[in-house]
Amino acid sequence: MTTTRRRFLTGASIAAAGMLVGPSGTLMGQQSPASAGPADPGLIEDLVAAYRILAQEGIMDAYGHVSARHNRDANRFFMSRSLAPALVTADDLIEYDLDSNPVNLKGRAQYSERFIHSEIYKARPDVRAVAHSHSPSIVPFGVSSVPIRPVYHMAAFIGDGLPIFDIRKAVGMTDMLVSNAVRGRALAQALGNKVAVLMRGHGMAVVGPALPYAVGRSIYLELNARVQAQAMGLGGGVTYLDPEEARKVMESGENRGYERPWELWKMKALGK
Ligand code: MN
Repeated sequence: MTTTRRRFLTGASIAAAGMLVGPSGTLMGQQSPASAGPADPGLIEDLVAAYRILAQEGIMDAYGHVSARHNRDANRFFMSRSLAPALVTADDLIEYDLDSNPVNLKGRAQYSERFIHSEIYKARPDVRAVAHSHSPSIVPFGVSSVPIRPVYHMAAFIGDGLPIFDIRKAVGMTDMLVSNAVRGRALAQALGNKVAVLMRGHGMAVVGPALPYAVGRSIYLELNARVQAQAMGLGGGVTYLDPEEARKVMESGENRGYERPWELWKMKALGK
């Protein structure tokens, strides 16, 4: 192929050359990455449960998504096709590589913000689950100068505070969506080694070493935000957990794996 010909095949002319451009901007004719094979059925069940639980607990409405790293391959993860969380079933899950390329798209629509997940998995080898939501009580703390602080032991994982990702400071004027790798990388950078990052004017991303952590932390972050706003609204001073107390709660292992609520949430969400 000549240089001229190659130049001709870039950009909009690709469609003219007979190749289809998918809704996400990827080339339909492009090779999909290979599958890492079937996941542990327990992981798939927990991921479906995670979607249902986050919807049921009011963390997600028709928007938001949760993902889990593949148990067989750290370079693959699963998340739903573009769908309201309460409606997700195992058949809706898509396997992705860490550049957010789908393994088994089958023409389905994808979440535009899947790069939140892929870039966090790239940056954080310890993370095995990611949840992104527009958690309503969290949004004020992303736009206010008042920082979120742990008001009770269930939110001790907040520690001495959480970072805020301001997409405008990171990449300039946007439609607020983390819909490409550059934006995803900037978000992952803001998250650093923390358990969650607030997203200014948008919501939050929460991570964990397994699905119950990402789900449990999302739920208790929402509750902490609500309770903190109530405490501040009383008008007096507010005493937060000291970072040392927060550290001791985490060390004691109390509530850390969310085993007790996970069983309850899953039963309520899946009806079994
Ligand atoms: Mn979003």
